[in-house]
Amino acid sequence: MLAGPPVGTGAALAWVAMTARAQRYNAVVTRREQVSAHLVRLTLSVPGLESTGILDEWVGLVVPGQFQVRYYTVRSLDGDDLVLDVVLHDVGLVTEWVSGDCVGDSPEVTAAQGSFSPPPGAAWLLLVGDLTAMPAMARICAASRLATRVWAEVPDDLTGYLPDGTDVTWLEPPAEGRSRLAEVVEGIEWPDGDGYFWMAGESAQMRAIRKHLMRERRLPNAAYDVMGYWRAVSARQPRVVDPGPIWRAGQAAGKSDEQIWAEYDEARGG
Ligand SMILES: Cc1cc2nc3c(=O)[nH]c(=O)nc-3n(C[C@H](O)[C@H](O)[C@H](O)COP(=O)(O)OP(=O)(O)OC[C@H]3O[C@@H](n4cnc5c(N)ncnc54)[C@H](O)[C@@H]3O)c2cc1C
Repeated sequence: MLAGPPVGTGAALAWVAMTARAQRYNAVVTRREQVSAHLVRLTLSVPGLESTGILDEWVGLVVPGQFQVRYYTVRSLDGDDLVLDVVLHDVGLVTEWVSGDCVGDSPEVTAAQGSFSPPPGAAWLLLVGDLTAMPAMARICAASRLATRVWAEVPDDLTGYLPDGTDVTWLEPPAEGRSRLAEVVEGIEWPDGDGYFWMAGESAQMRAIRKHLMRERRLPNAAYDVMGYWRAVSARQPRVVDPGPIWRAGQAAGKSDEQIWAEYDEARGG
């Protein structure tokens, strides 16, 4: 499974570019540090990798022996040294790799790209995200001169992760691997004047927010960037059931379409 594509207004073009085979760089993990219970910092030596300068820029990461790409924000890139902050969740390709001793391993990294792009007249910045968005929000806060407010939904104490003086509201996730950021954003008091709204996290939450921004707030496309960084998969998956036999048996028994589809849903465990 390919990890969630960065679905967002400014990100659409970047995603098209990402799906074309991006240039890959050989990397070596030189350091692994535990930042907090759910966050691991990796330093990789990646000769040739260049920054785009875009504050939410990310790279694709292919762990050794795998071919699937996962995307990670460039926390910093100094010479050849690339720093990524990787979230540990229940299961996952990168999660498993990074949970072990990966120092000395040689993953591949794709060229950096980004989408953070406040319009020239923006007077303020609102940043909202979960743990996966923290690296981008930290970088944006450190570099942007706009008046900035942050909402961060994180399971760990990350005091000191954002630059000193950042105006941040810390939120607890409703449960492990869950998010209620859509509800939070619907209750935000919006600053006056023109600004820029940037948000990243669980894809279903991001879809809800995009609708809210378009329908309720009526923001122009250039005024926001909302990216789905990962997809929550519901714990209970429907069983795969061939509808053909159920349909034929129902018809032979003279049942209505509704009765037949109700039986089909029941057979799938719904
Ligand atoms: C542009 C971009 C930038 C990103 N930047 C970062 C970053 O800096 N740091 C970072 O950690 N992540 C970041 N992500 C998110 C990261 O790519 C995904 O979380 C990815 O799926 C993790 O890969 P994995 O191999 O560990 O898990 P996968 O194998 O992809 O997924 C395994 C299971 O875990 C679930 N899952 C995946 N991610 C999460 C999560 N975060 N929380 C709870 N459950 C999850 C999935 O639903 C699936 O059931 C970014 C994504 C994008 C698109």
